[in-house]
Amino acid sequence: MYPFSFTKVSDTREALDAGRRGGRYIAGGTTLVDLMRETVERPGTLVDISALPLREVTVTERGGLRIGALVRMAEAAADPKVRLSYPVVSQALELSASAQLRNMATIGGNIMQRTRCTYFRDVTAACNKREPGSGCAATHGVNRTHAILGTSDSCVATHPSDVAVAFAALEATVHLVGPDGERQVPFVDFLLRPGSTPQREHALRNGELITAVEIPALPRPLKSGYLKVRDRQSYEFALTSAAIALHIRGGVIREAKVAVGGVGTVPWKLPAVEHHLIGERPTDALWAEAAERAADGARPLEHNRFKVELLKRTVERQLRIVGGSK
Ligand code: SF4
Repeated sequence: MYPFSFTKVSDTREALDAGRRGGRYIAGGTTLVDLMRETVERPGTLVDISALPLREVTVTERGGLRIGALVRMAEAAADPKVRLSYPVVSQALELSASAQLRNMATIGGNIMQRTRCTYFRDVTAACNKREPGSGCAATHGVNRTHAILGTSDSCVATHPSDVAVAFAALEATVHLVGPDGERQVPFVDFLLRPGSTPQREHALRNGELITAVEIPALPRPLKSGYLKVRDRQSYEFALTSAAIALHIRGGVIREAKVAVGGVGTVPWKLPAVEHHLIGERPTDALWAEAAERAADGARPLEHNRFKVELLKRTVERQLRIVGGSK
């Protein structure tokens, strides 16, 4: 470890002042401390924001749900409002990390976590995300777990979060506060594809702080769920995953929300699959047809071609689980 300063703040104004001076926000610390130990990240000042009043899950005036940025993953997963209204969110959280990490990590930190690409965490490897312009060791290296969607010549790393996939599917909004006041960013625009600047991962401006994630009210009844496919059943990142929510009324699919994880450089929304479902009657044949579109535009690498078929099967299976088999 290297020397750094540490300050704990008790209100938002204090946090923003410290952030404007270049301080790095920390709450649960479950990603950042690891990266500091490995010298992948070297912030000069840590600003502990864990005392800020951002730890509530509330129903919004519009009937949606607002999850404070400092709500722990385990707290959000267990919250009755989340479990009842958006099982896809609870399930994504419960299938993440380990119980110990879920008790410590926060919702804001979860969506800000950095990639698990092993070359990113190995300071001797070429990595454009860690050191812009140095190259990408994964492109022609061991890339079995890497992305097939949203990649660029500069970076092919996946975003590791599960709950971010659920937020993308549900078209959540990220609430921010910064030196210039409050603003909101659609979740699907918050995390950035790598393009030629993979070191830029999110839409946060200098000194800005995430205060909450808001899930919009969706028509009822709404069935939803999260399926995660991985090499082992616990404490492992997704090879593929699918977050799906369906509103079926009168035997017809009126709304469909679909996003996938483990395959994209960001949580990957699937509008073509959604459009294929809306207005149709749920049948096994429909699930299979819609899932065929899940990997449209995929650019597999040498070791992860299997993800194309696995992704389609993951989406088809989760559509059947959520929408029923006929
Ligand atoms: Fe770095 Fe991205 Fe390449 Fe991994 S895939 S080595 S994170 S540039």
